[in-house]
Amino acid sequence: MATPLHITNPPLVCWNCHERTIGTHFCPGCGKLLQLPQGSDYFAMFELPRKLWIEMSALEQKFLQLSWKLHPDNFVGATEQERGISLQRSSELNDAYRTLRDPIARVEYLLAIEGTRKNGENKQQAPPELLEEVFELNESLDELREAKAEGSDTALLRHRLDEAEKNFEQKLSEVDGLLQSTAREWDAAIDASAEGAARKKIMAQLNDLLNRRSYIRNLVVNVQKELL
Ligand SMILES: [Zn+2]
Repeated sequence: MATPLHITNPPLVCWNCHERTIGTHFCPGCGKLLQLPQGSDYFAMFELPRKLWIEMSALEQKFLQLSWKLHPDNFVGATEQERGISLQRSSELNDAYRTLRDPIARVEYLLAIEGTRKNGENKQQAPPELLEEVFELNESLDELREAKAEGSDTALLRHRLDEAEKNFEQKLSEVDGLLQSTAREWDAAIDASAEGAARKKIMAQLNDLLNRRSYIRNLVVNVQKELL
């Protein structure tokens, strides 16, 4: 695969041989482990474009290769500086892998580095189209808490909440489906070198979907806790 054009690492001067280098990990001139260039990101660490579809087996393979190369064990006899770089880069690599292999964390991260991630203004606020259902859910939760406190029969309430939970799980998977299709739109926009406005629009959609997802996810977790 050719090196994607979107990787715009600024040129870096090797700390050892002081040559300008475009290496991502090692200096092509002297072979020393490089510090991570400023403005680098998790995608660049894996030499990937900022796209949301990532082939998992290739990512894992690259991770294993890199973690072997960057591993502090390889630098036991090296200078303190090199050991420091190796440690730092190994831990950054782990963070990058953990983030990129998780589809949701990947979207969060992309929006963060593109500067467009905005958490919901008010995390307690339900998306308008869910208001009614959320209201009903909260009522059932209150009733269950009361019934528990009074020691009365909870079977019926539990059943109702079970159904509500399934309903919200269903909505969660709808949001996940939308996230997937919007992620494909993002990748197509990158491939087409779409202009800023088009990209921003897709990013705003991704951002809303992430907020919606985290809102529904919290609901489901709350119901599960109460049903335990
Ligand atoms: Zn060098």
